[in-house]
Amino acid sequence: MELKITKWIIILLIFIILLFYLKLIPFFSHKFYRNIKEIKNPNDIKVLVNKNNRLKPDYIPPNLVKLKVSYSQEDKYLRKEAVLALEELIKDSRKLGFHLVVVSAYRSYEYQKNLYQHYVKTKGIEYADHCSARPGHSEHQTGLSFDIMGSNKDYNLFEKSKEFEWMSANAYKYGFILRYPKGKEHITGFKYEPWHYRYVGKTTAEKIFFKNLSLEEYRKKYS
Ligand SMILES: [Zn+2]
Repeated sequence: MELKITKWIIILLIFIILLFYLKLIPFFSHKFYRNIKEIKNPNDIKVLVNKNNRLKPDYIPPNLVKLKVSYSQEDKYLRKEAVLALEELIKDSRKLGFHLVVVSAYRSYEYQKNLYQHYVKTKGIEYADHCSARPGHSEHQTGLSFDIMGSNKDYNLFEKSKEFEWMSANAYKYGFILRYPKGKEHITGFKYEPWHYRYVGKTTAEKIFFKNLSLEEYRKKYS
């Protein structure tokens, strides 16, 4: 009997260690969407929007500029700084034979609200929170983020496109970071999204890239 209990305790311990190793425990600890703070500096280029930091419903970023038609699907807007950097990036990448197209950029609070509610209605709240952001918590409302696709014309499969590798190695040179990297899900609160980039400016992007940080880790460390 005693031996049996010991066996089960060992199995349980191994299971807990495994969960920690897989970084799943913080995910289950429900730190996200708790103690939510209202963002005070929404225009800051390094603004941190996530599941614990929220933008106001009426926040609209300054200087929203339309992206070149050939660089995006339909009308897509970003803040001027981000548009200038992104158009330079796409122009340079096309010279090398890559074909990057922006599929999503600035999204208003209302738009995000409808998108999130659509996921909740069709797939349930768990799925919605896993794949989307609640209104006010989406980085797309900053006008500094975009989703991109490559030659295989499916942003969901961006990782399999030839453009992915080039973006991974070069985006920081233009001031962009991969916002939701693999292995940082327990910090960012979002699943790995190879297609979602964020403008932070060249100096910050370089630091984040070479130190392999998430924006959350960078903000904690440097500001
Ligand atoms: Zn996105």
